[in-house]
Amino acid sequence: MTNNETLIQLFIELAGIPGKSLNEAALAAHIRRRLDGLPFTVETDDAGRALGGNTGNLLIKPAHFDPAKPVRVYMAHMDTVRDTTGIGILRDKGKITSDGTSQLGADNRAGVAVLLQLLLDVTLSPPNYMVVFTIAEEIGLKGAELLDFGGLDVEAVFVFDSSRRPGAYIRTCAGKFRFEARIKGRAAHSAVAPQEGISAIMVAAEALQGVTIGKLDEMTTINVGTIHGGEANNIVAPLCVATGEVRSETMDAVATHLDRIETAFATACERHGASLEFIRTKDFAPFDLDPDSLLVRTLEEAIHRAGAAVDPLRYSGGSDANVLNERGYAAVNIGIGAQKPHADDEFILEEDLVTAWRIAQNLMIMHSEQGQSNRF
Ligand SMILES: [Zn+2]
Repeated sequence: MTNNETLIQLFIELAGIPGKSLNEAALAAHIRRRLDGLPFTVETDDAGRALGGNTGNLLIKPAHFDPAKPVRVYMAHMDTVRDTTGIGILRDKGKITSDGTSQLGADNRAGVAVLLQLLLDVTLSPPNYMVVFTIAEEIGLKGAELLDFGGLDVEAVFVFDSSRRPGAYIRTCAGKFRFEARIKGRAAHSAVAPQEGISAIMVAAEALQGVTIGKLDEMTTINVGTIHGGEANNIVAPLCVATGEVRSETMDAVATHLDRIETAFATACERHGASLEFIRTKDFAPFDLDPDSLLVRTLEEAIHRAGAAVDPLRYSGGSDANVLNERGYAAVNIGIGAQKPHADDEFILEEDLVTAWRIAQNLMIMHSEQGQSNRF
């Protein structure tokens, strides 16, 4: 079987391939080349076409794949949030970093390396499984949203994309909505006829007094992230737009907080004769995995066998697992230790890369042990 250095070299090989969201074609082609001559079929779905990207999601199935049987899916995303073309990669005392000019890209090339290495080690061949590499995760989980399983009976999805160290996994995840409050006041000359104007900026300021931001409880956070308004110093501002987000443990809790925020804006608008348009957009739904489910128990055993400490998390960052759970597929996001994701000093420990790989191997080995009949 492959040694650890082979996996580390594969990660380094993948990290420098350009692949910002919707531009993952170079990585997709590289993966295809690496699998050339091995007993897999590699399909590309239509997600890229729908999103305006240069490739779709990759669906990789072993030769013995049977579309009539339940399938377990192993997943990572191909896109990076920043360009990693030609970054220098440094290794020092078991830590892999970039040269500081961009992110390392361990989010999520470490996940891609782990799963591609599993495929290259064709000796591991559990019952019905497939590996999926998605596109456009970093711009709102778009690839997973459009991922076309073609009517397959997907019984579990293991996503290798949590920045937490191996052993951790997201058992409970918050859902997230964005909001946009558009306040329409009335323009007037600020000196000649200010009494004829309604300042949307001042209405927004008053409304925001009634909005609580920050961490409200363990799983609830609210932020007002941007505010734009006004046209010139001598015009009473006719328009002000504030945007923000709400994350919480259930859709109901998110909705309650959004209602409160909308009420704060509506009340201020009413008081001053302004009008309000309040737009809510779902970014991702929450999920809460059953600790007694076969999905969770299998993962915990795989982590345990890899020698890591099982660490189920309550978390508020989204991943492809959120979209898939919402679509009705049992999905879990697993820690791979791509730490400080997106930053210039992003890094991964070699031991974490190897442990994540062991966890993935164990999941496949346990699938073989459990056989085809076990349902999640
Ligand atoms: Zn990621």
